[in-house]
Amino acid sequence: MKNSKERESIWLEAIEKYRERSGFEPSPKAFLFDMDGVLFDSMKNHTLAWYKTMSGLGIPCTRDEFYLYEGCTGKGTINNFFRRIYSHDATDEEVQQIYAIKSDHFNQMPKAEPMPGAKEVLEQVNGRGYKIVLVTGSGQRSLLQRLSNAYPGIFTPENMVTAFDVSKGKPDPEPYLKGLEKAGVEAQNAIVIENAPMGCRAGRAAGIFTIAVNTGPIPAETLLESGADIVLNDMEDLKENLAAILKLMKL
Ligand code: CA
Repeated sequence: MKNSKERESIWLEAIEKYRERSGFEPSPKAFLFDMDGVLFDSMKNHTLAWYKTMSGLGIPCTRDEFYLYEGCTGKGTINNFFRRIYSHDATDEEVQQIYAIKSDHFNQMPKAEPMPGAKEVLEQVNGRGYKIVLVTGSGQRSLLQRLSNAYPGIFTPENMVTAFDVSKGKPDPEPYLKGLEKAGVEAQNAIVIENAPMGCRAGRAAGIFTIAVNTGPIPAETLLESGADIVLNDMEDLKENLAAILKLMKL
């Protein structure tokens, strides 16, 4: 485990690299939060629901494979399988049918809990006057509704980008570019909080400083290779170090 001085020097180097590659001084005014695996501890349910759906249809897969597709829309996930197995995309009808089965499985599972530390992170960000936008590949209205219960007063339709708002899901930059639009800021004025490789690729492609919270089974190295500027252990780690990271950006 690295000590706090060593960690700060890694973060400072990451900020310097961002300056070099973007040509901009990072000066955050908004935070763009992913949802599953960041605000809710929901990835275990999602991977199991996908696994049951695909196995039930006779499509060979492993549960861990779904962590790699995390962040894609339902359509994107289904097409990753179809391309691997049938070498072509699913039809719109197939996508609708398969996503409906996945949603049924998911909705029968126990409700995912808020991610430990997430409420405090949102309160810190809100309290410091930063704008907050949710940027998720999810298209499940039931799950979006739950945001209001877990994090009252933070999320409204005006500060959410969901599967319904984009034509291309993560790893395409479109969801995060839409997030910037909703926040009314430029890329150098935002910070992405992600947990998945596809999401980090999307944040990087949108030109935004991307902090990964590694809440799943993926090696930290994979998140860095996918474009994360900084990798933290989880949302508790972000809660404890957010102020220090923001301070480094103001140097
Ligand atoms: Ca996620």
